[in-house]
Amino acid sequence: MIGPAGRYAPSPTSDLHLGNLRTAVVAWLMARSSGRRFVLRIEDLDTARVRAAGPMALRQQADLDSLGLDFDPPLLRQSDRLDAYAHALLSLADRTYECFCTRREIAEAASAPHGAALRPYPGTCLRLTSAEREARRAVRPPAMRVRAEAAVQTIVDRWSGQVTAVVDDLVLVRNDGTPAYNFAVVVDDLFQGVDQVVRGDDLLASAPRQAWLAEQLGGRAPSYGHVPLVLNESGQRLAKRDGAVTLADLAAEGTSAQDALTTIAVSLGLTHPNERVTPAQLLHRFDPDALPRDPWVYRP
Ligand code: GLU
Repeated sequence: MIGPAGRYAPSPTSDLHLGNLRTAVVAWLMARSSGRRFVLRIEDLDTARVRAAGPMALRQQADLDSLGLDFDPPLLRQSDRLDAYAHALLSLADRTYECFCTRREIAEAASAPHGAALRPYPGTCLRLTSAEREARRAVRPPAMRVRAEAAVQTIVDRWSGQVTAVVDDLVLVRNDGTPAYNFAVVVDDLFQGVDQVVRGDDLLASAPRQAWLAEQLGGRAPSYGHVPLVLNESGQRLAKRDGAVTLADLAAEGTSAQDALTTIAVSLGLTHPNERVTPAQLLHRFDPDALPRDPWVYRP
């Protein structure tokens, strides 16, 4: 693997919808227009045990392929990388600690006024004695957290600008032994030489902690670009229930992948509705500074 890369990293939980595909197109354009490799990573840690993950990953690849997006090998599957996560965890061993808290206990302990997802871990298990830890291990297996000591991390997003956050003691490995999303993503981006992360802006709030973790693992944080999400006509995040939003649904209605690419390109201001375009053509027209900053409202 030579040279820096961009990436697309779907979780194989369902077919990609137009919003996901649009983000993939932007990530591809960003990588290719800057001379980067573009790699695909299947984020199947949550779904590894689900039999459907394999076929779903193949469907997602087929959809990306039918839009004309190409990827540089090798394809990476997170479920093949458990040794790498274990190794990375060891390298942080002097900064990790076992956490026995349930979600509920965390919610109750932290009465911070912001939403549950943004609530920092109150540090309950940081101060356990070894006897207390021993007693709790008998009740439930621990998750592993990293001690962040309230580090403050700033990232500069390509479109949203500067984002600064206090890094919480994030979970690296969940209590069922599964590496946590934030941890696996960072380990893999470093491994794959990914120095440009382009993804949906629902993950913007995770970027500072991921940047911090990359540095703790001895790497450099990538550049970030978070793409505005796609909304339905009622202003909610586009979802399967919004009708024909996947390539399979569209094909059943007689709309081809080629037409879907045109729709996406129109939404990016790169073509008009009647033009047949290829990703290579879009590459010549693409200007990151001109990317629409508002969410795209999809009207079937
Ligand atoms: N696998 C994540 C998702 O499908 C994306 C991870 C990332 O881009 O960092 O939402």
